[in-house]
Amino acid sequence: EKNELLKFRDLRIVDKNGKRIEVAANIGGTSEVDIALKYGAEGIGLFRSEFLYMDRDNLPTEDEQFEAYKYVLERMGEKAVIIRTLDIGGDKNLPYLSMEHEQNPFLGLRAVRLCLARKDIFKTQLRALLRASVYGNLRIMFPMISGLEELLEAKKILKEVEDELRAEGIEVGKYEVGIMIEIPSAAIISDILAKEVDFFSIGTNDLIQYTLAVDRMNQNVSYLYNPSHEAILRLIKMVIDNAHREGKWVGMCGEMAADLSMTKTLLEMGLDEYSVTPPMILRVRKELNSIL
Ligand code: PEP
Ligand code: MG
Repeated sequence: EKNELLKFRDLRIVDKNGKRIEVAANIGGTSEVDIALKYGAEGIGLFRSEFLYMDRDNLPTEDEQFEAYKYVLERMGEKAVIIRTLDIGGDKNLPYLSMEHEQNPFLGLRAVRLCLARKDIFKTQLRALLRASVYGNLRIMFPMISGLEELLEAKKILKEVEDELRAEGIEVGKYEVGIMIEIPSAAIISDILAKEVDFFSIGTNDLIQYTLAVDRMNQNVSYLYNPSHEAILRLIKMVIDNAHREGKWVGMCGEMAADLSMTKTLLEMGLDEYSVTPPMILRVRKELNSIL
C-alpha cells in the first residue's frame, strides 16, 4: 500500500473550478519538518509552537525561537508555513509558569488569552516570528480567538512589535495573519472576523468539544464526540462561506481534516486546505483525487 500511495506524493489536486486544494502538514517541532516533506506536504498548515516551550524548565528565548522558526521556514522554501502562537493552558501546562489553579482549564486562561495577559511572553514570540519572516513564507495564526476584541488586540500587539523591530533597524518580511476557528462564537461571527484576517484554519478538535459540550479527552462521553453532528457541519459551512465572501481562504487543521469519511463533504463545502498529521497526507490526497 505504501508504494501505491507514493504516486500521490507529487500529485497536486485541482477542483472542478480550477482551484488548487492543498494538503499540508501539522507538526509539533522542527524535527518533524523532514517527515512532512517526505510525505509531500504542500506546506505546514499548523506548527504547534507550544512544543518549543514544553519539556524544559524556562521560557525559550527570542533567539532560540527565532532559530526554530527560521529553520522551518528555510526548509519549506516557497511553501507556506503557518506558525500558531503559543497555545498553552487547557491540557498543556508549563511547570515553570506559575498559573493559578483553574476549575475548568479548557474554559480558562488558555492560548491567546494567556498571551494577552502575559504580553512579555507574547511579544517575545512575535519578535522571533517577525525576525524569521524574511526566511520564507510565514503565516502567523492566533489560537482560541473568541471574539473581535481579542483579535484586534492581538493584531495591535503584532503591529507594535513590527514597529519596534523596524525602529531597531531589523528587517521584517512579508507575512499573513490568520486565526483558528475553534470556538463556536468565532464561527458564528466569522463574517466579522473574516474582514480582519488573511485566512482561517478550523480547529475541529476544540470546535467539536466546545460546540457539543463534550470534553475531547473524556472517554465517558466520547460517544457524543461526533464530527458529523449537523451543528458542526453547519458551523463549518458557515465559516467557509463567510471567509470566501471576503475573498479569504479556509483550511482545517483539526483531526477531522484527516477523517477520510469527511473528505468529500468538506470538499463540497469549499474547504481550501486540509492540514493533517504527516502520515495521513498521502491518504487524504488519494481520497481527494478519487473524488475529483
Ligand atoms: C484543534 O483544536 O482542532 C487544533 C488543531 O488545535 P489543538 O488540537 O492543538 O488544540
Ligand atoms: Mg485547539
